[in-house]
Amino acid sequence: MKQGLVMRSTGSWYDVRDSGSHLWQCRLKGKFKMKGFKVTNPIAVGDRVTFEIEDETENTGIITDILPRENYLVRQSVHKTAHAHLLAANVDQAILVVTLYFPRTSLGFIDRFLVSAESFRIPAVLIFNKQDLLDDAMREFQAELMALYESLGYRCLATTATAGEGLDQVNELLMGKVSVLSGHSGVGKSSLLNAIAPGLALRTKEVSTFANKGVHTTTFAEMFELAPDTYLIDSPGIKELGLSDTEAVEISHYFPEMRELLNECRYHNCQHINEPGCAVKEAVEEGQIAMSRFDSYLSMVGAQDNRR
Ligand code: GDP
Ligand code: ZN
Repeated sequence: MKQGLVMRSTGSWYDVRDSGSHLWQCRLKGKFKMKGFKVTNPIAVGDRVTFEIEDETENTGIITDILPRENYLVRQSVHKTAHAHLLAANVDQAILVVTLYFPRTSLGFIDRFLVSAESFRIPAVLIFNKQDLLDDAMREFQAELMALYESLGYRCLATTATAGEGLDQVNELLMGKVSVLSGHSGVGKSSLLNAIAPGLALRTKEVSTFANKGVHTTTFAEMFELAPDTYLIDSPGIKELGLSDTEAVEISHYFPEMRELLNECRYHNCQHINEPGCAVKEAVEEGQIAMSRFDSYLSMVGAQDNRR
């Protein structure tokens, strides 16, 4: 019995790397079930597994068990009948690349990403890219945003990928960790990665290029080793990490600044929309919770018309 790390997954085959850095092509025998929901793929990149060698010369193996996960990213299908898809396991941090220039990232999108990361119990980091293109007003706004998100516990970096600005900090951020990188197409994800790890062929262009290749193409997820113990997971669907149906009461737990007030609302099932004695609304009115964050919350619970 050997132990290894799942580096690549096609859904039917898994490349598993053993402690000696040797790659084994493994498949699953029998069914693995996940508690809580049905998944299309029971194993994801980042999983640690045990396996038996099937054929030593062919480098094939059979996965026998999945070791307990620290966390995992899953994409819930919008169709209730379909299964959820596991994107990655054992992720140390989720990084969102944003820009206030073009294509401008909305605060709603940033907050959704952060809520998703909270719900998966994965620390989130924001990288504000395209510093060179910001005018004074944008720069000022960005400084306010960085201060806001830092105060909520999210690390923020500022970079100009094309000029190498801030890349030392990005390097230091990635070192020794397993990361996933998200962000709208065009914000500079590939530029950042190319500057850090030249030659790394990430799936930089969107899913359409994949779909065009026809039915025989299997979309796969992959884990790249940038440096010793430093990995970046590239998985279809990870770029726009979203949130599926989550109850309003649950969503407020994923806003750190609301989480600490929840016991102070008059009603234990308060949705913080227009209930009397709501500690969250009070904090918004007193400026302790940013209006933009509260707006994002209302939009997520489908109550954006109830702002005042
Ligand atoms: P991705 O879709 O997120 O991977 O974005 P790309 O890395 O492909 O970048 C999209 C475009 O923005 C390219 O033309 C890049 O050269 C440009 N770009 C990326 N980062 C910066 C930056 O910091 N400053 C400027 N001026 N352009 C950038
Ligand atoms: Zn409340």
